[in-house]
Amino acid sequence: MPASNVSSSLPERTRTRLQGGVTHVADRDPLTVRSPFTGEEMGTVPACQPADVTEAVRTAQAAQSDWSERPIEERAAVLQRFADEVLDHREELLDIVQLEAGKARLDAHVELLDIVLNADYYAREGPNHVAPTRRDGGFPLLTKAVEHHDPVGVVGLIEPWNYPLTLAISDMLPALLAGNGAVLKPAEATPFCALRAVELLVDAGAPEDLVQVVTGHGTTLGEPLISSVDYVTFTGSTETGRTVASLAGEHLVDASMELGGKNAAVVLDDADLSQAVTGTVHGSYANAGQLCISFERIFVHEAVYDQFVDRFVDATETLDLGASLKFGPDVGSLIGQHQLDTVEDHVADARERGATVETGGRRREEVGPLFYEPTVLTDLPDDATAACEETFGPVVSITPVADADEAVARANDTDYGLHASVWTEDTDRGEALARRIEAGSVCVNDAYLGMWASTDAPMGGVGDSGIGRRHGPHGIQKYTESQTVTTQR
Ligand code: NAD
Repeated sequence: MPASNVSSSLPERTRTRLQGGVTHVADRDPLTVRSPFTGEEMGTVPACQPADVTEAVRTAQAAQSDWSERPIEERAAVLQRFADEVLDHREELLDIVQLEAGKARLDAHVELLDIVLNADYYAREGPNHVAPTRRDGGFPLLTKAVEHHDPVGVVGLIEPWNYPLTLAISDMLPALLAGNGAVLKPAEATPFCALRAVELLVDAGAPEDLVQVVTGHGTTLGEPLISSVDYVTFTGSTETGRTVASLAGEHLVDASMELGGKNAAVVLDDADLSQAVTGTVHGSYANAGQLCISFERIFVHEAVYDQFVDRFVDATETLDLGASLKFGPDVGSLIGQHQLDTVEDHVADARERGATVETGGRRREEVGPLFYEPTVLTDLPDDATAACEETFGPVVSITPVADADEAVARANDTDYGLHASVWTEDTDRGEALARRIEAGSVCVNDAYLGMWASTDAPMGGVGDSGIGRRHGPHGIQKYTESQTVTTQR
């Protein structure tokens, strides 16, 4: 569908509710949000100032003390009702996510499912993960020890634009369940879906002031936020992550960093090629490649390389680009001009260095101003920008390898270590290989990137991909202070 057929306006109901944002500082300069589908204005939010952050933290702190006193079962019930609210308002939320992030409806749907699954998971399992736990005392026959988990206080969340609903909300829910308040700083480009989701949290029974949203620029709001909260959850680029981590260090605030990746897929000679192609095409182009765990490098055993490339290119060429608020198009838009420039620069550099563009390699302005064709590169030199730096767009390289050892060596030849996949009919071999790849998560033969298996399993990165984990027990315990009480028998 041509971009001109999509209205970039927020749904009227949403526009009225969200004007001024949750922090109600309407007298600040407006920050204009444009839809990547058309480049047209969607609406404005206040560009908050440091004093607004201080006020937001104070407000969340006041609400948090009552909230933390409520029985955890009551807090869990709020999360369950929130999941229902999200499902009841799914069409509105999907529209907002698509309009502000420019993504295909299926990609927006993934976000919505993610927050529902996380709400349900932490409502059911979270209380066990933070329940008092009996430990051995120093002299077990003379003493007993109990580990308690108390909320840290107010958690600050600084989030990116690529999964604006999932990352803002799924990272916040365990913090709330543990008894914390939260102050969220969404990305400049995508504040509306998080604002709306926070309203749904209040409708589900969360105290009105417990979650504060400060919209505006990260460079203005980062330091005041980091210096006044009790824990920082940051998701974004490695470059900004270094700044956030050093501020957290300066203020002695605990923090987790979910950063960039240059993820590899390894296809062995005994792989089921149709499964491997389906999985790696999905993993390379979901969310137009603007996905921290997407594959940007595929290493294929030379015995099946030619066949794999042919099939991968054929599958890539079937993908539909589109700016539509209906299910249908496979690939959405890039988020902004900066992202489009990066993608174009990486492909131009690859061409100059002798790489072959097997398919794609151009803008699709007739679809929308920021659409770029899914692109396959072969013969990419190791020192090309697209081989070393995160592209964060629909561009993937395919490279032959002589054997599994070379595949592992190449997959590990990066400063990043977020995600990887291995494709083989022999799952024991696949799992053994997965253990040799330096990444926080590795999927074996998983066409859905392991996304839906992960609410109970930790996810995060090593090296330049970050510090700390989300999901599972760690995803809630990190928002608590532990206290050990030892009692003489
Ligand atoms: P970004 O680093 O530019 O921005 C992320 C957030 O940080 C935004 O809210 C921004 O306003 C804020 N920010 C900017 N400067 C700041 C400062 N000085 N202090 C504090 N906050 C500041 O990242 P982006 O472009 O929005 O997101 C894309 C990046 O995020 C990619 O590198 C991607 O791989 C990464 N990412 C990682 C994960 C993960 O789980 N590992 C998930 C999604 C995205």
